[in-house]
Amino acid sequence: MYRGRFAPSPTGPLHAGSLLAALASWLDARAHGGQWLVRIEDVDTPRCVPGADQFILQQLATCGLLPDETPVWQSTRCPLYRDALDRLIVKGMAYPCACSRKDIALAREALGESKSRHGELVYPGTCRAGLHGRTGRAWRFRTDLAEIMRKKAPSPEEYAQAATETIAIPSPNWEWTDRRLGLQSQNLSGEVGDFVLLRADGLWAYQLAVVVDDAAQGITHIVRGADLADNTVRQLALQAALGLPPVQYLHTPLELGPNGEKLSKQNGAAALDLSDPLAALNRAATALGLQPQTGGVRAALLHWTGEWRLRFP
Ligand code: GLU
Repeated sequence: MYRGRFAPSPTGPLHAGSLLAALASWLDARAHGGQWLVRIEDVDTPRCVPGADQFILQQLATCGLLPDETPVWQSTRCPLYRDALDRLIVKGMAYPCACSRKDIALAREALGESKSRHGELVYPGTCRAGLHGRTGRAWRFRTDLAEIMRKKAPSPEEYAQAATETIAIPSPNWEWTDRRLGLQSQNLSGEVGDFVLLRADGLWAYQLAVVVDDAAQGITHIVRGADLADNTVRQLALQAALGLPPVQYLHTPLELGPNGEKLSKQNGAAALDLSDPLAALNRAATALGLQPQTGGVRAALLHWTGEWRLRFP
């Protein structure tokens, strides 16, 4: 049974980019005769705007995108995240970390690697071996163990054999297949590093909350913007470590602003003008490569569902 979802963060009203993700996930669910849920991702409370959640639900309704179940709010589900973290701790897959940003920067500098990735420093694993009397601030995930669990490293014999014969050495990259983008890969421990599960400020990290909720809600298919594709390996690793069922992913093209940058609330994307919902939907549909429609919202959604089914069976 197909179950999909749209998982907005209530940091402001929907903008054209988030409507695109909402529409794509709705169409994929309908095209598969499945259910479509809405989950309000409000764990990062300092970034949430009061009232934005209700406003988003109204905007979705105006566009004819109605969830099949009552929406859930992540802020009410913290015991689930606690339970998942406890399970990871018991398995030795999570550890407390005492490092500040400055500590991490200094440790990377000492390794001769001051470069950051997407502005974020790759955590060098300082606290993996214990806190040594320091006080834990955050909890991190053991990406090295996750990689070992995922793919067995070649034995010395296999390496030696590989030197004489042309057999493939297993890649240390974590591979996955996106329904639109095809084969993707990432070196989790090298490119991302041991990522945070519970933040130093006591807030649950998106990576853990999203994986726990997708599994708890029985989500089978995730359709979201390509800007989130980069998170997928972290989420696959957490699913594997927690023994959760696999999910299929489709990352949509992004709606770009006039400057060619991805539209986001952070870079000031205007709130959607829903005085004409079909016009807003047509813009999202066009960015998804679907034919613009005239007439009513319902007829347009029906037409696009058929088009989508052919594109992404
Ligand atoms: N809450 C995330 C966002 O608004 C989306 C999470 C997801 O779809 O996995 O960017």
